[in-house]
Amino acid sequence: MTYPIEGSCQCGGVVYQLLAEPQIILACHCKECQKLSTSAFSLTAFVDADDVVFHGEMTEWRRVAESGNISAAKSCATCGNRIYHYNPDEPRQIKLKPAGLSDTRILQPTAHIWVSEKQDWYTLPAGVKVFEKQP
Ligand SMILES: [Zn+2]
Ligand SMILES: [Zn+2]
Repeated sequence: MTYPIEGSCQCGGVVYQLLAEPQIILACHCKECQKLSTSAFSLTAFVDADDVVFHGEMTEWRRVAESGNISAAKSCATCGNRIYHYNPDEPRQIKLKPAGLSDTRILQPTAHIWVSEKQDWYTLPAGVKVFEKQP
C-alpha cells in the first residue's frame, strides 16, 4: 500500500490525506456506532495526529462515553458525514471514520469490540480478536 491515501466526505466539502498506515483498525458493534454508521457496526482507524491532514469546515459534537471520557465527533459542516472522533484529553490520537478513503483495502479490522451489542445475523470472521465491551 502506498501513502498518502485521499479521503473525503459524501459532498466533498471535507477532504483529507492519510499519510501513514493506521496503528489499528477496529470494528465497533455498540449501539452508538450502529446509530452513527446506520449499519451493524462502525470502523475506526487509529492514527497519530501527524499522520492525517484535514481540509474543510467541520462541526463538533461531544458526548460522555461509558468510560467517562469525552468523545468529541467532527463532521462535515455541509453533508454531516462523520469524519473523526477524538478525546480532548488525548488530542494526538485521531479515531478516523475511514469509509471515505479512496482505497479501502486497508480497512481490515483486527479486532471487533462491543460484540455484546452486535446484531445476531452478523457472524464474526475467524481469526480476529473479540471483546464483549471496550477492551
Ligand atoms: Zn460533506
Ligand atoms: Zn461503538
